[in-house]
This record gives sequence, structure tokens and C-alpha cells, in this order.
Amino acid sequence: MAGNRDLSNLELMPIDMQTEIISRVARHSRRAVRNLLAAVPPLARSTAVPIVYRNLNIHPLTVHPRAALQRYQSLMENCLASGNLQAHYVRGIQQYFHHQNVNGGLLHLQIAAEGLYEKAVYLYGVIMLAKGETAIGQAMLDTLGWRQSKNRADRCWRRVKRSLHGIRVTRLESYMTVYHNTRETIACHRENIHERCDTCYYYKKLTKFVYMM
Ligand SMILES: [Zn+2]
Repeated sequence: MAGNRDLSNLELMPIDMQTEIISRVARHSRRAVRNLLAAVPPLARSTAVPIVYRNLNIHPLTVHPRAALQRYQSLMENCLASGNLQAHYVRGIQQYFHHQNVNGGLLHLQIAAEGLYEKAVYLYGVIMLAKGETAIGQAMLDTLGWRQSKNRADRCWRRVKRSLHGIRVTRLESYMTVYHNTRETIACHRENIHERCDTCYYYKKLTKFVYMM
């Protein structure tokens, strides 16, 4: 009988509580949201809202920002407008590297980094080092706790390189100036990229970024 469908408990909840639940599901994955909506279609009205887009886990796009160059445009726009950190990381990479919009790209990466999205913290940090913004770059890398353990920062770099796969990456002339100037100040382990003491750590990170090692 029309209009006599049993309402699920979820549908009976206040809208703001529905949204809260969906935004938590969104942190898990887009697929989880889709599954939820397939099970309870009326929840869609509580889904297309900023808090859900802000929390929405778009990890697959951060792994392949290249895939989002042509596709996922409206998803990306909604996420960016809602302050989704992963979306800012993805758009930052697209703009900074692929479109060579250095300033525009950096703004996005900065937002993601300041929101403590790890991969962006690392990438923004090494870009700042390469731009000669040494204090900012070092402070960024310091938030990854490399003095206690270098693992976290190293893992970030591996993931950043993965994100850059298939993206046009240009080595800017300005990087090389900073690189050579920095290199002149390093007296220890200069030729051994694997040896990183407190003195040469940032220089090694700069080297790896400039040469994409
Ligand atoms: Zn050293």
C-alpha cells in the first residue's frame, strides 16, 4: 500500500542526527555511504550536505590525483567547498605540478597541511624547503616527529611519490639554486643519501624531493 511503508529507525531520527551518522560513515569510504543509501534511500536528503563532504573519505583519489583530473569534478568541488583536506591535497597536486599553477596549488596544499593531513604536511614541507622557506619547511617536517622516528616521514614520502605517479612533475630552476646553496652548508654525510643525522636530515629530504628519489 502506498505511503504505508515501514519507516526504518534511521529515517525516524531527527535530520541532524541522520547527518551525524552519515558523516561518520563517510569517514570510512564513499562505498560505505553508497551502501547505506542503497539500504535506506530517503537518507539521501541528509547526505549532500557540507559536513558529509568535509568528512568524506576520498582516499582513492589521493592515491591517484591524476584520475581526478577529468573525472569526479562535482565530487571534488563539493569536497573543496566543504573544506575536505584530502580534496585540497588532490587539487594542490593537480594545480602545483600538473597545471604548473604554483601559487594556486600551494594554497591548497597549505590548507591540507595546516589541517594536519599527513601526506600534505610532508609535501608542503619539502616544497617549502625547495622554495628556500627553510623555517616553514623544517617546522612542517618536525610535526612528523622524525627526531623520535624517521618512519612516519619516510612513509609519507613513499605515499606522496605514489600520488605523483602519472602527474607531470617539473624540476623548477629555483629548486636547484636552493639545493646547491643548501648543499654547500652540509659538512656531514653529504654524498650518502641513506645516512641522515640531525644536521643533514632536511638536506636529504630536499635532495629526495628535487630528484624525486
Ligand atoms: Zn649528517
